[in-house]
Amino acid sequence: MNIHEYQGKEILRSYGVSVPNGRVAFTVEEAVEAAKELGSSVCVVKAQIHAGGRGKAGGVKVAKSLEEVRTYASELLGKVLVTHQTGPEGKEVKRLLIEEGCDIKKEYYIGLVVDRATSRVVLMGSEEGGTEIEEVAAKTPEKIFKEYIDPAVGLQAFQARRMAFNINIPKELVNQAVKFMLGLYQVFVEKDCSIAEINPLVVTGDGKVMALDAKLNFDSNALYRHKDILEYRDLDEEDPKEIEASKYDLNYISLDGNIGCMVNGAGLAMATMDIIKYYGGEPANFLDVGGGATTEKVTEAFKIILSDPKVKGIFVNIFGGIMKCDVIANGIVEATKQVGLNLPLVVRLEGTNVELGKKILEESGLNITAAESMADGAQKIVSLVS
Ligand code: ADP
Ligand code: MG
Repeated sequence: MNIHEYQGKEILRSYGVSVPNGRVAFTVEEAVEAAKELGSSVCVVKAQIHAGGRGKAGGVKVAKSLEEVRTYASELLGKVLVTHQTGPEGKEVKRLLIEEGCDIKKEYYIGLVVDRATSRVVLMGSEEGGTEIEEVAAKTPEKIFKEYIDPAVGLQAFQARRMAFNINIPKELVNQAVKFMLGLYQVFVEKDCSIAEINPLVVTGDGKVMALDAKLNFDSNALYRHKDILEYRDLDEEDPKEIEASKYDLNYISLDGNIGCMVNGAGLAMATMDIIKYYGGEPANFLDVGGGATTEKVTEAFKIILSDPKVKGIFVNIFGGIMKCDVIANGIVEATKQVGLNLPLVVRLEGTNVELGKKILEESGLNITAAESMADGAQKIVSLVS
């Protein structure tokens, strides 16, 4: 789960990790009020969306008076911001962070992520922080330093110190930087983050080390033990299809292609996406309806796929083990009764109750292309949508 920058900064602040003073605003009046309360001569007006790259896209504005705060806030609120992370459709700005302007001496990068190769949390850092970090990573990867963290002992002070030296934090500020990194690691572990990225971490004119940006992502599987983090969820920022799917406990991820997939089991769902791509198609979603899905759940899953305007054809690929093929067939028939079906539908069924499942589909009168195998089904759906 993703949260906004201002929420991430609230969490960091509560762990003693230094961030500038700031306030969230939902309206222009609140923005001006927030700037008054901050009382700083320079304020920064920052669009709050679940995507980075806002600086380059005009979503971060420096205001030198309350009038400028008003101007920038009215420009940004309601604007659709297109950054390199939003996709071409962009995201509408509904919240702003009004923050104290910071006298930046230098921008650095600090991030914590889970490294799958070593199964460890890795601390990454660079002295080339700021809005060009993707380019640094691509062109000069030697400028990015890493410290792998032993989960038994956590991030050690010597590692944080080595990082501070590697990225050339001024000597007199190394202790502050070490405290910062240790605090960030504590947040990462205690809050079950999957990403904690500070870009930029800055050194200021008056000798402080602080986070000017904060991107925190949380492991959704651990959210049950973080009610406080769940309160930060902003449904406006999430895909409505994914929200609907989560209500029915379906594992659904929306993708960019045009072939809707309904599959049982995460492994089979991955394999189905692979084979669609192999035959030159693009999946519109990942969907695992799970093992013990009911007809109702399958119906909802099928309706979610049909609600996606990108979808030009559907591939149902079921291997009935615990899941019974007739339950899937009934779900498909029920969903199409409720919302209609004008798209090509390819169905491959195998396993428990397969004959019954096939019979239900045949008798439904739906225009279904039957497939004999995964490869056969993938080829058929790819040719039907192209
Ligand atoms: P994004 O990563 O989405 O572009 P950031 O929060 O990193 O957004 O802001 C982009 C840039 O704007 C920063 O690299 C920094 O130079 C500047 N900036 C952000 N917040 C402040 C602030 N409080 N004071 C001064 N400059 C800021
Ligand atoms: Mg940033």
